[in-house]
Amino acid sequence: MNDDQPLDPAQAGLGDMDPQAFRAHAHRLVDWIADYLAEIDRYPVAARVAPGEIKGALPGEPPLAPEPMARILADFERRVLPGITHWNHPGFMGYFGITGSGPGILGELLAAALNVNAMLWQTSPAATELEELILDWLRQLLGLPPGFFGVINDTASSSSLYALAAAREALDDLQIRRHGLAGRPDVPRLRLYASEEAHSSIEKAAIVLGLGQEGLRKIPTDDTFRMDPAALAAAIAQDRAAGWRPFAVVAVVGTTSTTSIDPVPAIAELCRRERLWLHVDAAYGGCAAVVPELRWVLEGCEHADSLVVNPHKWLFTPIDCSVLYTRRPDMLRAAFSLVPEYLQTAERGAVTNLMDYGVALGRRFRALKLWFILRYFGREGIAARIREHVRLAHELAGWIDAAPDFERLAPVPFSTVNFRYHPRALDAADPAAELRLEELNRRLEAAVNATGHTFISHTRIRGRYALHAAIGNLRTTGTHVARLWTLLQQLAPSVSS
Ligand code: PLP
Repeated sequence: MNDDQPLDPAQAGLGDMDPQAFRAHAHRLVDWIADYLAEIDRYPVAARVAPGEIKGALPGEPPLAPEPMARILADFERRVLPGITHWNHPGFMGYFGITGSGPGILGELLAAALNVNAMLWQTSPAATELEELILDWLRQLLGLPPGFFGVINDTASSSSLYALAAAREALDDLQIRRHGLAGRPDVPRLRLYASEEAHSSIEKAAIVLGLGQEGLRKIPTDDTFRMDPAALAAAIAQDRAAGWRPFAVVAVVGTTSTTSIDPVPAIAELCRRERLWLHVDAAYGGCAAVVPELRWVLEGCEHADSLVVNPHKWLFTPIDCSVLYTRRPDMLRAAFSLVPEYLQTAERGAVTNLMDYGVALGRRFRALKLWFILRYFGREGIAARIREHVRLAHELAGWIDAAPDFERLAPVPFSTVNFRYHPRALDAADPAAELRLEELNRRLEAAVNATGHTFISHTRIRGRYALHAAIGNLRTTGTHVARLWTLLQQLAPSVSS
């Protein structure tokens, strides 16, 4: 991408980029993307820039006159790319490994070209109907029964917020949508339950919904980090006795740190008895249910009132794409539907208007990329890829288990491994040793990531600092996982000195 190109003819006049210029730039850009994906291994996974460096290298004021596309693309390569952490890199194993897959990228490109706003059926019937169809396909792939209505949101954080807003609205004697919560002596304090391992988005939902952080009660977990249903039952009984009004439970299939799976069947039974809304956060783990032998991970979820699964986590879909399923779309509508005159259409009542199921009015055509992906890979192709990620994670876990100076800190039900470097000489029972282990593992994480070959993150498990490697990128192979293991072993002694 050089700098000496003239402006496009249309840049001097009015209107958009002309089709010929678009074709030429697009071909170049798609070639660049193909090369990027083919050679992504040559980039350091994590950006090596200081805070402010990228902003500082770019003009602080917008350009007055048009600039040639070639110059913009050159600046992208020179100024922006160094500040990119490459989530699409096969060595990226931090947080949850994800993939912007080829068919997903093409679907995004097409969605941008169409640029439809799928707020109403009328504003693009195909966008609404494809979303309805594709989410029913995904429901079948996950083994959920018919009767689950699906809607795509940006993130699981939004999906869980909307689900819990619906749960709050289901308290129909309180009419919270109409009267609000503040200043009402007739409304008891509302309570929601999730395990201490649940994602912070649940606590954020409690904040947004006016329950306050105290409105979320965190339930202890067992020694495999699963919510303890007996502790949940006791907490609900205690809260009722103290005047709280319990209204919802969030169970997690694949918690963020340890990927534990809450005992959903037992929790669902408790929710049925207690008349509580059950929301399942399967943002990461739910994706695995596409694999027939892993379908059990969603056992009990057929009883959930709502469930979130994120194709942008482990179904190879470029960010963003989070699917909220609910057996009670009426409550989601009751919480969110608000139709001013300018959004009335003749078909209302006969069609789905997706704006009725959340806060956002405008919505992107996200179903298109998911449709591309499900068709391009097929059920078997997706299952094979997820199965391979799980196999690779178990291989890594096996190496860790066999190494005297490393220890695994949680079971591996999916493709995520939590572990730490633990030189035999350090006795973990000694509080000082625990601090030293944290220091060593912080250093080891930084040293591994500084190599540029791989990227891992960390978490805290029962107070211990844990290294976290999550395999979820389509380009990650056994070679990349073996490289991570080699680096860990090579670098560990150096961080001890
Ligand atoms: N739920 C779980 C279990 C997660 O692990 C995460 C993120 O990692 C989220 C929710 C939030 O996801 P999002 O970034 O889509 O809001």
